[in-house]
Amino acid sequence: MELKNKDTVVVVGGGPAGAFFALHFLRLSKVRGLDARLVIIEKRGETGPPESAHHLSCREGCNYCAGGLSPKLTEALEQEGLFLPEDIIAGVIRSLTIHAHWKNIELRVPADKKMYAVFRGSRPKGRVNRDRNFDSFLLEKAREAGAQVIFGNVYDLGCSEGGKHLVLYQSIKSGGEPGEETGRTIEADFLVLAGGVNQSLGQPMNKTPFWDVVRKAVPGYSPPRVRRALICEVEIQAELEAFLEGEIYFVEYGSQTLKIEMSSLIPKGRYITAALLGRSVDDLGSRDGLGLIKEYLDLPQIKRILPFGASMRPVCLCAPNMTVGAASRTVGERAAVVGDMAWARLNKDGIYSAYLTASALARAVLEAGIDGRSLRAAYVPVIRQLKRDNSFGRVLFMLNRLVFANPTLSRILYQAVLTERKKKPQRARRLADTLWKMASGDDTYRAGLRAMFHPLAVWSIAGGLLLTMRNFLTEQFFGLRWHRLGRYPTGLHKEDMEAKRVEFLRVGRPGFRPGRPAFESMYSITVKSEPGKIFRYLGTFGDGNRKYFKPRWLQVERIGGRPNEPGSLIRYLTPFRFLDFQVTLESRVEDKVLVYRVKSGFAEGGILIFDIEKEKSGVAGLSIYVAFDIAPGKKWTEKIFWFLFRYFFPGFVHDVLWNHSLCQLKDIIEKDSA
Ligand SMILES: Cc1cc2nc3c(=O)[nH]c(=O)nc-3n(C[C@H](O)[C@H](O)[C@H](O)COP(=O)(O)OP(=O)(O)OC[C@H]3O[C@@H](n4cnc5c(N)ncnc54)[C@H](O)[C@@H]3O)c2cc1C
Repeated sequence: MELKNKDTVVVVGGGPAGAFFALHFLRLSKVRGLDARLVIIEKRGETGPPESAHHLSCREGCNYCAGGLSPKLTEALEQEGLFLPEDIIAGVIRSLTIHAHWKNIELRVPADKKMYAVFRGSRPKGRVNRDRNFDSFLLEKAREAGAQVIFGNVYDLGCSEGGKHLVLYQSIKSGGEPGEETGRTIEADFLVLAGGVNQSLGQPMNKTPFWDVVRKAVPGYSPPRVRRALICEVEIQAELEAFLEGEIYFVEYGSQTLKIEMSSLIPKGRYITAALLGRSVDDLGSRDGLGLIKEYLDLPQIKRILPFGASMRPVCLCAPNMTVGAASRTVGERAAVVGDMAWARLNKDGIYSAYLTASALARAVLEAGIDGRSLRAAYVPVIRQLKRDNSFGRVLFMLNRLVFANPTLSRILYQAVLTERKKKPQRARRLADTLWKMASGDDTYRAGLRAMFHPLAVWSIAGGLLLTMRNFLTEQFFGLRWHRLGRYPTGLHKEDMEAKRVEFLRVGRPGFRPGRPAFESMYSITVKSEPGKIFRYLGTFGDGNRKYFKPRWLQVERIGGRPNEPGSLIRYLTPFRFLDFQVTLESRVEDKVLVYRVKSGFAEGGILIFDIEKEKSGVAGLSIYVAFDIAPGKKWTEKIFWFLFRYFFPGFVHDVLWNHSLCQLKDIIEKDSA
């Protein structure tokens, strides 16, 4: 059974699935020379004045979504010629940060990928530009492609004498009010059901009467498994916008009382969208959502992401269903379901899932036919294959939670990722690539699982285990405690290190031979503070009452000059006299650079540079560069001793000490700023 010219296709639901189906169908039917009519019936909407550039401008409410557009989706949109206008993009995402129990793992969005944050509707109330949103944009594009958009609520289906579906709907006036008392009917040669899984928000799925309506067209339809989510738009202070701009955070654990398995924070200008999944959300019935969100924002790991003392106001909150499985039947005679009603990728990328099912259905309808048998042959296998991938996703998420929520396991993984980041070029970073694909939805879960258990990935993790044990013992030896201290990443990417190294060597003019010195290291940390404050805190280096860099067995004190003034002399005393040395501040650039030179001892001529770089308003990067060589000595006994010393020099101790100290510095500066 095939569609013919002048036939009518009715799409129930003008969310992403409905709009994507319309766009695909209209494009493909044009290619095939089919002149069919396509009508979308959407229950949530207001039309603007017809003369307005954005006729379907205002979308009442929203479609209960965090609005993160994955790289796969943005790529697909561009391939379809759908370029998002600037006023639809609420945020351009430059990095994803997985917040693990030990430390954050930041994953940059590769230069050839795009990720955006959007609003799906007019909510939250009072936002500027509320008539510009992603769902209205898609619907407008469908209308431009030839779809007719009707605002109405589909409440029943019937059957015409010719065996076609009759779609019964009540029209809706501008503002979401019911339009007419009596319903209207439209006959469909083919019916697409794209109504999502939030027919009645917050109601259990089995109490949704709409499924009985769907079963009239798709006999045996049983909706996919859903999970309750909590989503909240949180208004933030204007000053915080710049802090958070361009970042997405994933946090996969809560606390003893707040059971969270997965949560995301997506900044969008004056708002951050928080989306939560977990046992506490499943059991929300007995707790109020607002209380739960407040408890979430109060978690130490969330406070570490958002600056200390940040004022945040939840302004829009709901507990929608999220599709986490696949429907049991998806096709009938002259009808099929798409989008969330059919399948969605587990915990990720629902809009791209809607794109996949909608485009697959459009192809099936035009290439195979509209009878049940043709659809079963051309469309159902696609759903089945997508469904299978979610089983791999379940295992992958379980492993992830296990690792990220555990302090020891997440430290091992962090260490492995850090080593890879410092030593390997970007294209060879296997672990980071796997994490990026999983967090961004850039590959199938099956591929993600396979990559995770690749022998080279396992080898990197084994390396991470050894390094973690070594660093832990070093911390114990030097009495470094993490209790009540934030743990932040301090390692740089290899490519950044190379670029900075050249700059530091130029500024520091070290007194050692060209080439690689005996020891060289670089660390960096992002501090939510103005450069001036960081510079002042660095002035306490060597003070007796400083609050950082105070390891056991090492005495560091200023013995001459004034803080941050050239000539300031700092002495390092160790338990072994031959390891003692002094550094002097040689030059400085106010609020930016401090260059210390090693004056005496085995590292004489070496340099220690503190560099502060403003990243954005209220945020600066603090980098430390250390490099020195070891003189070979004159007598042959000295030569052997210093050769062995150079060979066995435990450079990692320096890394462990400064890693801890940088976290201390960040904590005290940010607390002070707050
Ligand atoms: C908390 C949460 C966060 C999420 N975050 C993301 C994210 O960041 N990125 C991402 O890609 N996905 C995300 N998703 C998933 C994503 O929202 C969905 O997968 C996607 O919206 C599915 O599109 P859809 O068109 O199938 O359904 P929907 O978006 O629900 O659209 C259905 C449309 O049908 C209309 N409709 C329903 N019933 C009728 C009726 N009877 N008559 C007429 N019209 C009707 C509705 O008004 C609606 O416009 C999230 C989901 C949840 C719950």
